[in-house]
Amino acid sequence: MSEKLTEIFAIDVFNEARMAERLPKKTYAALKKTIENGEDLDPSIAEVVANAMKDWAIERGATHYTHWFQPMTGITAEKHDSFISPTDDGKIIMEFSGKELVKGEPDASSFPSGGLRATFEARGYTAWDCTSPAFLREDSAGVTLCIPTAFCSYTGEALDMKTPLLRSMEAISTQAVRILKLFGHHDVKNVTTSVGPEQEYFLIDKEKYMKRPDLIFTGRTLFGAMPPKGQEMEDHYYGCIKEKIGTFMRELNNELWKMGVTAKTQHNEVAPAQHELAPIYTSANIASDHNQLIMECMKRVANHHGLACLLHEKPFAGVNGSGKHNNWSLITNTGKNLLDPGKTPHENIQFLLMLSAVLKAVDLHGDLLRVSAVTPGNDHRLGADEAPPAIISVFVGSQLEDVINQLIETGEAKSSKEGGRLNIGVHSLPELYKDATDRNRTSPFAFTGNKFEFRMVASSMSIAMANTVINTIVADVLCEMADELEKAENFDLAVHDLIKKTLTEHSRIVFNGNGYAQAWTEEAERRGLPNIKNMVEAIPALTTDKAVDIFGKHHIFTPVELHSRAEVLYESYSKAINIEAKTMISMASVQYIPAVIAYTKQLADSINAIKSAVPDADVQVQTELLRETTAFLSKADTALKKLKSVVNEASLMEKGAAEAIFFRDKVIPAMEDLRAPIDALELIVDKNLWPVPTYGDLLFEV
Ligand code: ADP
Ligand code: MG
Repeated sequence: MSEKLTEIFAIDVFNEARMAERLPKKTYAALKKTIENGEDLDPSIAEVVANAMKDWAIERGATHYTHWFQPMTGITAEKHDSFISPTDDGKIIMEFSGKELVKGEPDASSFPSGGLRATFEARGYTAWDCTSPAFLREDSAGVTLCIPTAFCSYTGEALDMKTPLLRSMEAISTQAVRILKLFGHHDVKNVTTSVGPEQEYFLIDKEKYMKRPDLIFTGRTLFGAMPPKGQEMEDHYYGCIKEKIGTFMRELNNELWKMGVTAKTQHNEVAPAQHELAPIYTSANIASDHNQLIMECMKRVANHHGLACLLHEKPFAGVNGSGKHNNWSLITNTGKNLLDPGKTPHENIQFLLMLSAVLKAVDLHGDLLRVSAVTPGNDHRLGADEAPPAIISVFVGSQLEDVINQLIETGEAKSSKEGGRLNIGVHSLPELYKDATDRNRTSPFAFTGNKFEFRMVASSMSIAMANTVINTIVADVLCEMADELEKAENFDLAVHDLIKKTLTEHSRIVFNGNGYAQAWTEEAERRGLPNIKNMVEAIPALTTDKAVDIFGKHHIFTPVELHSRAEVLYESYSKAINIEAKTMISMASVQYIPAVIAYTKQLADSINAIKSAVPDADVQVQTELLRETTAFLSKADTALKKLKSVVNEASLMEKGAAEAIFFRDKVIPAMEDLRAPIDALELIVDKNLWPVPTYGDLLFEV
């Protein structure tokens, strides 16, 4: 098996090795320059690359190609074209031109654009992203050559997740290289954002899934009482993987490995029926593409095993939700991780400067990080059951905190806690690592030895925006720092002062304690840290003057692009809640209420039957049950009417912030009011009459 693995890994990827094999030397060299150094793509090479790519794809059974892109829906989009081209004699040949490789023209009007594109302004373009290799995907449609592309409008605005990410990677590389030059690293040409996203997900029985309209339409359960057992026994986390899940994981890994995704870690997660997969980190752009592939593949492969894969952030109330821990670091083209505390004092100063830059960036732009992780589902996840709270802070571990405190207090860090083998900085990486992984599950942004882990990201969303924001805010601080340090007469003194000043001004963002404690909410408020509780409250951060400045300065988003993204988020929120509310109305009307009425009839029949058989029999139990049931039934009916009326009111509103606020403040409470009596009824109504599988059925009978 292991030998086979080395053979199949990336067998379906047109990667560098394959290009070296199949492209003329000059073409390969030119393409490599673009991929590695970000140089302009030479248009003349596209024809040659397209031809080689097509030959390879056809040899591997491909009949179609697609420009594979990531519109602002958060998922991927594709339109397949076959390679066929008719000849005069009524036959076909297989063709794929350079033009077809480089540029596609999907209709842009049917993707979210936040008002950027009117329906009649349909033209949009996809552009080949040669930094993420093309790959073959095999599914029921056959083998398709997938070409990762960026997606923009006729007027050049980004309409996707990838374009801003690529822009932000360039921005942070530029600024980090400036800083590194000051430290004498003239050999560094560029710095890559490295990302390893851990993907959490649920697997449940497909047949039961098909009986839950809420799961089908919204990805989460909108009703459901807690079963007698939840996750309190902590017996699922890292538990033995069930056979059915094991065969799923095996096929999933195989599919991913073939597409060059470095699936590495798999385990059971905290909630029953919850699992995790983590690949080995790679460049943010590829990591983001691969994460999309992982999600798509999970859904597809689950079907082969009679399972349904749930990527929603909170499929089940009351147990752990799913997130995406986004591990992030900066690595030079010479192979150095800039977030590695390192071994010599010289490098530690550089590390401390990087650390202070990240702390400052997170402190200044917590609002942007927060909005980079919003989905309607994440509102239910954050702040509960193992997920980080909505307040952004940074965990650095006790050793680094000690170093930071020394620097702030005395201007110099003379020791690390472990006996001070270093003059400045932190020496003991393994111990730091232990600290970091052990005690900070509640921290949204944690330093974990040689990388930061942003844990707020939602399980169903693209990781592109989160990394775009991290890159941009850190790039901006590095830019300011480089501006200052480049002018300094004495670099050593200046950098020392700058670290001290930055840490002093931004140490409020450091928090190593329990993020769930009420005391932290109060303390965070005293420190002036924002506590942005939900998606609707988070969205305005995208269009503040501060956001417009910083994204504009580094050419990540124009003001128009920012406004359009905010609009897309408001709309996606309103649409999601509207679908949830309508699903609840339908389930209550045609499933729950009829079932409960059937039960009340059963009780009433029983009372009547007993009374007519034995007139003085005691029917107190049935009578009480009947009263209790009808009381909840009447509450459910009142709540249903209320929900219908607010949903109707919402349907008359114009799209935008006000509509989203209405959904949050009026529709969601009405949904909660409907859920409560139905969940209570679930616990008293005859299970044989209950119309849908319960939490117990869904979570424990996989
Ligand atoms: P955890 O304890 O958080 O599960 P892991 O060691 O499993 O930690 O790492 C989680 C993810 O972090 C993996 O995808 C891994 O490849 C990634 N990772 C490790 N080092 C780095 C790095 N320097 N930059 C970005 N991601 C990294
Ligand atoms: Mg982790």
